[in-house]
Amino acid sequence: MQTIPQAKIWTAAGWSAPRVLVQDVSGRLCPSPAVGVSGGIAGERGANDGPVQGAIQPGTTGSGAATARIVPGIANLHSHAFQRAMAGMAERQTDPADSFWTWRETMYRFAARFTPERLHAVAAQLYAEMLEAGYTTVCEFHYLHHAPDGRPYADPAAMSRALVAAARETGIRLTLLPVLYMTGGFDARPLSERQRRFGHDVDAYLGLLDILRVDEGDALRVGCALHSLRAVQPDAMREVLAALPRDSRIHIHIAEQTAEVDECVAVRGARPVRWLLDNAAVDSRWTLVHATHLDAGEVQGIARSGATVAICTTTEGNLGDGLFPLRDYLDAGGRWGVGSDSHISVSPVEELRWLEYGQRLVTRRRNIAVGTASTSVGETLMHGAMASAVAATGHAVGLLDDDRHADLLVLDTDAPAFAGATDDDAIDRWLFSGNRNLVRETWVGGRRVVAEGRHVQRDAIEARYRATMAELLAD
Ligand SMILES: [Zn+2]
Repeated sequence: MQTIPQAKIWTAAGWSAPRVLVQDVSGRLCPSPAVGVSGGIAGERGANDGPVQGAIQPGTTGSGAATARIVPGIANLHSHAFQRAMAGMAERQTDPADSFWTWRETMYRFAARFTPERLHAVAAQLYAEMLEAGYTTVCEFHYLHHAPDGRPYADPAAMSRALVAAARETGIRLTLLPVLYMTGGFDARPLSERQRRFGHDVDAYLGLLDILRVDEGDALRVGCALHSLRAVQPDAMREVLAALPRDSRIHIHIAEQTAEVDECVAVRGARPVRWLLDNAAVDSRWTLVHATHLDAGEVQGIARSGATVAICTTTEGNLGDGLFPLRDYLDAGGRWGVGSDSHISVSPVEELRWLEYGQRLVTRRRNIAVGTASTSVGETLMHGAMASAVAATGHAVGLLDDDRHADLLVLDTDAPAFAGATDDDAIDRWLFSGNRNLVRETWVGGRRVVAEGRHVQRDAIEARYRATMAELLAD
């Protein structure tokens, strides 16, 4: 039987009193009965036993042990899984003017070497690392669709299925966002040779979504991604948006680079976020990735729309994108979350920490990301990340409320970083103290997939990843 100690639970109102969490057979949380809860994980008892199928239940906490603390798993709002394989391999200067655009050439060369099998191996390694770090849901912004020559595989969904298989193998909850990628710039130029495997016409793209939706369930949601305004022309955007199911999530790269902003102004007569707000019914189904370059009106416009901004702090820093105007956006009441994007870091702690540090560096002040609910930076960041999880992923995740998935992290409160911790500082200690991973266990849908800081299949997944890296580097 898998058990975890009775714990204080992080909620919208802060820490709860110590209690157990109870789940039904599908791994969703249900109300805790007052007494008499027993049983193990979901599924150990029959479906006729009533709603309480399993308790994430009291363990044998010895006297003197620290209070156990459980926080909700973090949703990773932006991932390109294949880029995990090139992390740390684009950090040598090739030109004094190195930029996002020269990095992109390296990325394209690497992308050309992926097969469905290699993508599965790299994605499984990445997803296991995410689970160990505290991400329990991932939004996969997937554009590596076809064979390197641009022709569809015999199964046009082969690459998508590799990602779904990696998610199933590791246990991470997946929001798969197949990407529509049609043109190489705002001027509608065709895709370059290196972009050919990314491309679809509208009908083929909608056909891909139809194929993938057959497998939707609690573990998999299929949404839509528009690569960017430069890669999807206005007519195609309207056609796809009109064809989507009403509750489909829609993600888009929007304003990552200043060159992209300038080109959008030149060709479409408006900055990218302004153009999108004026030309699409942007609402809470939308996630705007890298809304880095915003003017004051755009900050207000996104916040009013209810859309989520996916901030990828470490990647945006790595690529020299620019700094998101966090304080103004919080003041406007905007919704946001984080993503590991290119995976030069796979850690929600580092994403959240640097979200705050970037602001401190440019303002020369401290404790900037605080809200009305808390004067703690860590707590404000956790509240923010939780509040966007359902809207951005389409899954019942985020806070550990009744009827949401039992996706949670057991923090290692025996670690020195938590010595003497109180309810007032526990979240800040987790996010702002040291670099040791303080996630001891990760549970997704009531199933423990990380124990003692290690993914339960870490060794096998890592061995296959090493073999795949050897192949990728030999090509
Ligand atoms: Zn991206």
